[in-house]
Amino acid sequence: MSEIIQVSNLRKSFVQRNHKEITILRDIDFTIGEGETLCVLGESGCGKTTLGKILAGLQPYSEGSYLFRGKEVSMLKKGDWNQFRSDVQMIHQNPYASLNPTMMVFDIIANPIRRKYGIRDIDELYARVTDLLRTVCLTPVEDFVDKYPDALSGGQRQRVSIARILAMDPKLIVVDEATSMIDTSLRISLLQTLLDIQMMRKVSYFFITHDIALGRFFARRNRVMVMYLGKIVEIGDTDSIVTHPAHPYTKALISAVKGTSGMLEKADEERYLLKDADIPSFSNLPEGCLFHPRCPECMEGVCNCRAPELVKVGENHFVSCSLYREEGQKR
Ligand code: SF4
Repeated sequence: MSEIIQVSNLRKSFVQRNHKEITILRDIDFTIGEGETLCVLGESGCGKTTLGKILAGLQPYSEGSYLFRGKEVSMLKKGDWNQFRSDVQMIHQNPYASLNPTMMVFDIIANPIRRKYGIRDIDELYARVTDLLRTVCLTPVEDFVDKYPDALSGGQRQRVSIARILAMDPKLIVVDEATSMIDTSLRISLLQTLLDIQMMRKVSYFFITHDIALGRFFARRNRVMVMYLGKIVEIGDTDSIVTHPAHPYTKALISAVKGTSGMLEKADEERYLLKDADIPSFSNLPEGCLFHPRCPECMEGVCNCRAPELVKVGENHFVSCSLYREEGQKR
């Protein structure tokens, strides 16, 4: 599988009104292959949406490298930049805010086709729009093509958003909590539509969620990356991470939802509990391992002094925790 993106040492900082610099992403290294899904998991505020926006070209990065199809994104000139912005699309969380309420579904989907391919012939546009509506399972198409967004449910609006994005023929789609505002019963069918599109079009996904059960479902044959306070703490094959989490934070995330969603096995062991401490703020990050104030396995004199690096703990499974030595031996 060739890589569509390579991210190395990426960092995102900004200066606050009080002139203090805040770093919200640091030491970010990962790749995504063509047709692959990388699911990013973590609590809200951990930096996953900011990272998704950087991948989609909606925010700049401060340092490091982001290569899209071998080209540094921050160095792209106008023509390549326009192509990049067309190749990488983002599905946002809120389907009620992402569609223009004054436009019919037909124009919402036809407009990007007009812009990208210069097609003006109405029959050809109709054929393309209805083909995309079928791809996202909005059928019979006659029931949707001349509707306004107000007449659609949240799930139907999200499907129109996906059809509009597909009109651009993207190579990578950033999916940002795309099912969190739609009915629980409709989530799996929407995710299955995205998986079917991946099979048909070989599109890659950067799938952002706080829900580990949904992440496991969506990236079940691919990889998961767990983030905490703007850093990657664990990355690897989905099954390896869900069944054998190595990082204490990942263990706590999985332990908290086991048996509650019906999508993860019931816990047969005691709940893995964190220390009762607040999540630190980005403006006052702890020394050493960022997780040490909450970590039940914190080693005084080690974890509060030294930031751990990612080490290999299994085939295609890496963790950033001082409990592990290089090549995965536990201390
Ligand atoms: Fe916990 Fe230490 Fe590992 Fe950080 S490095 S997760 S504090 S054991």
